[in-house]
Amino acid sequence: MFIESFKVESPNVEYTENEIHSVYNYETTELVHESRNGTYQWVVKPKTVKYEFKTEIHVPKLGVMLVGWGGNNGSTLTAGVIANREGISWATKDKVQQANYFGSLTQASTIRVGSFNGEEIFAPFKSLLPMVNPDDIVFGGWDISDMNLADAMARAKVLDIDLQKQLRPYMESMIPLPGIYDPDFIASNQDSRANNVIKGTKKDQVQQIIKDIREFKEANKVDKVVVLWTANTERYSNVIVGLNDTVDSLFASLDKNEAEISPSTLYALACILENIPFINGSPQNTFVPGLIDLAIKRNSLIGGDDFKSGQTKMKSVLVDFLVGAGIKPTSIVSYNHLGNNDGMNLSAPQTFRSKEISKSNVVDDMVSSNAILYEPGEHPDHVVVIKYVPYVGDSKRAMDEYTSEIFMGGQNTIVLHNTCEDSLLAAPIILDLVLLAELSTRIQLKAEGEGKFHSFHPVATILSYLTKAPLVPPGTPVVNALSKQRAMLENILRACVGLAPENNMILEYK
Ligand code: NAD
Repeated sequence: MFIESFKVESPNVEYTENEIHSVYNYETTELVHESRNGTYQWVVKPKTVKYEFKTEIHVPKLGVMLVGWGGNNGSTLTAGVIANREGISWATKDKVQQANYFGSLTQASTIRVGSFNGEEIFAPFKSLLPMVNPDDIVFGGWDISDMNLADAMARAKVLDIDLQKQLRPYMESMIPLPGIYDPDFIASNQDSRANNVIKGTKKDQVQQIIKDIREFKEANKVDKVVVLWTANTERYSNVIVGLNDTVDSLFASLDKNEAEISPSTLYALACILENIPFINGSPQNTFVPGLIDLAIKRNSLIGGDDFKSGQTKMKSVLVDFLVGAGIKPTSIVSYNHLGNNDGMNLSAPQTFRSKEISKSNVVDDMVSSNAILYEPGEHPDHVVVIKYVPYVGDSKRAMDEYTSEIFMGGQNTIVLHNTCEDSLLAAPIILDLVLLAELSTRIQLKAEGEGKFHSFHPVATILSYLTKAPLVPPGTPVVNALSKQRAMLENILRACVGLAPENNMILEYK
């Protein structure tokens, strides 16, 4: 059964005019490796830590500024939100299609809230805490191509033509602001697109981005802005002592107009200086160490890297299942071909390398969780190939072969073939990223013994379900397994309203 909304009644939860206050017992364990009677042994001690959460209820008017607004993802997301907001439907060869938010965790998935008369009761994920309604988002952003969003939507060739015709009047007047362009960081085949660029030194460019954000906020009367990079994948920047390894070196390099500071780092720097959440949806190392330190110092949210939309999402489900079942994946080989502008940009070796890196570590946590299957340091062979094939456009093909060792030396091979429009996978993920980033800035917490409430760590691991190579604070474990990432997010939001984590025990019926 499905319910639209619910309210928690508990001595641990208080709803005031402005916030939800919850007291939450975090059940965890403490491990000790100690000598008892002369031999070392591991001792696990369950412990309970009392936390308090405070969530601001008032939902702001949200502005979202996309870097790469006129790209396939940017134009598809903008179009999709307008279509939902305006209740647009269109004829396809099969049926009359209504706008929807399928593929969005916050808008189209549910959570289990309990049982009622022997039936499981589910509610929308978004009913857990007050979240911005995507229909109310004001979009804006930058692109190195000056094409308006209606033409950009046509250039992307993603949406049905009847839908495009209806959307055109809403999107023609949307024109991206000039972007920061540096041909050294993306493929040379993007040069012909770059007719809308910010001039001046890198410092001037950062100042311009700050000005753009302030003006956008003012012009649209939005309370908060989130900025998200969905522009072309850049090559990795070199991380060098004295260049970008500390906050000071990064600022000194900015003063010297150092060539090695990438455009994405400049946008992110502007956002951190303005305390605007910045999310990186591409694989490059935008967040160089000096920039991460600055975000931590200024307590400004950063999140990334690279949307987890297709092949990697499947990988982080399938390998989790295999290793969790006691089966040993020994070879994972992934081929992709795609024909959109992203694919064309990735056909250069240095930008492909960024993608290869972000796709490569995705099974690490699952492999290292099982020393019964893997020797220390042992790892499955893992190869990723991406090819540009213009004809298939945005309809990306992903082919994967998983070979595993099973019982008594047997071998099992699973082959997957996945075809779909890449931007239709990415757009709802972008939506979730900005909605959850905004929500997380309204949550404060403190553990018992901590004097003051504080926000989550500025490196937003809460977004990791949506990213291929989750950025984590230094010294923090990286979790890639999809079900664990989803459970983490859901359970933290449940804690904010005083609900126990979903433990799937269903003891009532045992
Ligand atoms: P796209 O090439 O269609 O769009 C990128 C846009 O960014 C272009 O319009 C380009 O003109 C603009 N641009 C490039 N450099 C810029 C800069 N410095 N400042 C402002 N604008 C700039 O690509 P897309 O298909 O929309 O994908 C966008 C990014 O998302 C890519 O890096 C891609 O790897 C990443 N990504 C996509 C998916 C997916 O499923 N679609 C998944 C993971 C990651």
